[in-house]
Amino acid sequence: MERTFVMVKPDGVRNGLIGDIVSRFEKKGFTLRGIKLMHIDRPLAERHYGEHREKPFFGELVDYLTSGEVCAMVWEGKHAVANARSLIGKTNPVEAVPGTIRGDFAMDVASNVVHGSDSPENAEREISLFFGDSAAA
Ligand code: ATP
Repeated sequence: MERTFVMVKPDGVRNGLIGDIVSRFEKKGFTLRGIKLMHIDRPLAERHYGEHREKPFFGELVDYLTSGEVCAMVWEGKHAVANARSLIGKTNPVEAVPGTIRGDFAMDVASNVVHGSDSPENAEREISLFFGDSAAA
């Protein structure tokens, strides 16, 4: 069964959204395989978002991700990566439709509440990065 990595970002944790987000994944039919509250240091944030290193917003992105605790999760299910991205909604909350997590809880692309892996390969890479050998599962 496919797995995906989902992370409630610091704004989502601060705003008390962990429960709602977990509930949406459970109701959709995903199985929770791992969950932990943690503080990300800058090297981990930089590795996680390495593909954006050259983007003008990279510094802001790392500041944001390290600004408070995150909730890292592993969810399993059929087409887990694509189904999770559907629940999460478009990257820019302005374009995310109501009913999606970003459509309901976010206003700005720079603080969009939640992350979901964009491919099964990246999901496994991110699960190793955040859960290491204890990985979930
Ligand atoms: P994520 O990887 O967080 O799930 P995504 O795959 O939907 O997001 P990406 O294009 O990979 O979207 O962007 C990664 C993250 O970088 C976004 O979730 C957002 O937090 C941040 N980001 C993207 N574009 C901007 C921008 N123009 N300004 C500030 N932050 C941005």
